[in-house]
Amino acid sequence: MFDIIIIGGNLSGATAAISAIGKGVEVALIERNNKPFSPAHCGEAIADVTADFLEIDKRKCPKNEIKEIKINVSSSHEYTIKLSRNKLFVIDRNYLENKLLMEAMEKNEHIFLGRRMVKVNPPNEIVMDGNERIDGKVIIDASGISCIVGKHIGMSTKLEPRDIGVCIQNRVQSTFNPNRMYMWWGEPYAPFGYAWLFPINENLANIGLGIAGSQTGDIRNLLQRYINAMVKEKYKTLSTFRSCEPMTKPLESIVSNNVMFVGDSARLVDPASGAGIHNAVFSGSLAGLIAAGHINGEIESLNIYQEMMKSKMNRITRTYKNKCKLTTTKKYDKAFQRVFSTINILNKIIPNFYQGQIARILLKDIKKVELFR
Ligand SMILES: Cc1cc2nc3c(=O)[nH]c(=O)nc-3n(C[C@H](O)[C@H](O)[C@H](O)COP(=O)(O)OP(=O)(O)OC[C@H]3O[C@@H](n4cnc5c(N)ncnc54)[C@H](O)[C@@H]3O)c2cc1C
Repeated sequence: MFDIIIIGGNLSGATAAISAIGKGVEVALIERNNKPFSPAHCGEAIADVTADFLEIDKRKCPKNEIKEIKINVSSSHEYTIKLSRNKLFVIDRNYLENKLLMEAMEKNEHIFLGRRMVKVNPPNEIVMDGNERIDGKVIIDASGISCIVGKHIGMSTKLEPRDIGVCIQNRVQSTFNPNRMYMWWGEPYAPFGYAWLFPINENLANIGLGIAGSQTGDIRNLLQRYINAMVKEKYKTLSTFRSCEPMTKPLESIVSNNVMFVGDSARLVDPASGAGIHNAVFSGSLAGLIAAGHINGEIESLNIYQEMMKSKMNRITRTYKNKCKLTTTKKYDKAFQRVFSTINILNKIIPNFYQGQIARILLKDIKKVELFR
């Protein structure tokens, strides 16, 4: 019997595995893909605090530092956020995912890549494709939006269309200002969502958008219109993908008996911005450490994970409830205008105010993880 079985080997699963393995417990990780998607299904933007936590420099992960964000809300308002003290990076997520998985593999031979979890027989048995069965004392569901373990143990995991972020992103080759990132909220490119241009360097950018699943309309056309508006030079599309993310409130229980939920599987994405990397690695690391501490007899109950995540979950729930009030595109665009103009004013009075606040929240998360190391 394994101490911990992790389903999903992306950021939340890999960080859970590395944290737990570091505590000397027996871990198995099951990831249905042979290697992470390349290019990553992600805009790849993270805050410096998260980048430090992930030790991206030590891991030699390529990164591009962003110095300013240009934000448009519909066609009428434009804001600029300068990033000096607290930074933002566009990283090579695919490199990082591979690196984390390789590190986990070096320390543990039970990393099953290219294998799919097909069934759970509670409380301990996981069935993989080929009918291979393994047992685990603790199961960590890091399966992303599918929340596959939750589904199998009878939890309510269904998402309403309006709570699904339907995304499309192109990797585009052209000429870009590597220091500047663009975001466009609302009409005409991203009704009930936003579009982004995140530069990787002066020749490459991730250009994408996400809108609520309840919206009709062809996201490919919307993206094309956004690219036409943003890229003035000749360009080439190197790759394209569509993907979904949960834009909802967290699961009510992120611990259910011996099962823990992390990252997108726990619905720990910010429902306003779609940012989920920080919460994936924060929850993954914390769950891995708490599960290992429990196995080692240092922590009585896995429920401490739910306790430690409470303020984060409350924050996401509040954002979700506010978002639900934005029932028309007019309300949606107006609300985001208010948000960004407030940030703009506060940043003028106290430079770096908004970025500093975000950094403090992220640092608090990391301190929680440190408590269990
Ligand atoms: C288009 C797009 C752009 C984004 N951009 C950003 C951004 O710029 N910044 C940011 O902070 N966040 C961004 N996000 C959100 C971020 O990507 C997610 O929050 C984050 O990837 C969640 O990580 P995870 O490990 O929890 O889940 P996932 O990354 O979804 O990983 C789940 C893993 O589980 C595996 N899996 C699923 N089912 C099974 C099974 N049955 N058996 C075995 N393995 C299984 C999958 O193959 C996958 O590897 C973006 C999301 C999208 C869709």
